[in-house]
Amino acid sequence: MEEKLKKSDTLSVVGELAAGIAHEIRNPMTALKGFIQLLEDSIQENHSMYFNIISSELERIDSIINEFLILAKPQAVKFIRKDITEIMKETVDFLNAQAMLHNVQIQTFFDKELPFIFCEPNQMKKVFINLIKNAIEVMPKGGMITVIMESTTDQTLHISIRDEGAGISKDKIKKLGQPFFTTKEKGTGLGLMVTYKIIEEHKGSIIVESEMGVGSIFHIYLPF
Ligand code: ADP
Ligand code: MG
Repeated sequence: MEEKLKKSDTLSVVGELAAGIAHEIRNPMTALKGFIQLLEDSIQENHSMYFNIISSELERIDSIINEFLILAKPQAVKFIRKDITEIMKETVDFLNAQAMLHNVQIQTFFDKELPFIFCEPNQMKKVFINLIKNAIEVMPKGGMITVIMESTTDQTLHISIRDEGAGISKDKIKKLGQPFFTTKEKGTGLGLMVTYKIIEEHKGSIIVESEMGVGSIFHIYLPF
């Protein structure tokens, strides 16, 4: 069951809009956070539950804004030729603690001497983080994530990230990457949107392969 994801033209419009709104919201957010902190310090009674709720909701707004800012037209982005196995290794190291907490193991198989990719390393890292995080989150009872990087015969780097999670139904695969599509209680539904946008900017593509009850594989193809 394979489904090629459609690249949406609306993405760039959304991106520009998102950047504008995100910047506008950030300033009042910072003020809010500061004053709530002050309030919390000055109130004696036990209102800590309210403050906890306020803080976690503010954090949620913060993470949505951060995701939105990434959608913004790239400004200081710097594309360079880079060995992206390095970026993947950093990402896996970085996420290993979180994975272990969830009983998840991450195994990697990289072809030797893979070609360098012309890319924006920070954005590429963001893609790997988003996909591996989703893989961790879809295995609440633990399991194995398998990351493979190989070059194909047609000048393309193939990266696959496989999980042993619940899988994604056919109708849901179509919704992946749509803003705010999430099935998680605390999800933003923006991670994959950002991911597709970044891969699109690298002239690559993403294909999702999934089987219910078995798991999913996110395939990324990047030209070199
Ligand atoms: P979020 O993680 O905040 O929900 P994402 O854009 O990263 O937002 O993912 C959107 C939705 O896609 C998830 O809520 C989940 O339903 C589905 N999804 C993404 N990755 C996987 C995966 N590896 N296995 C199963 N479902 C997935
Ligand atoms: Mg996610």
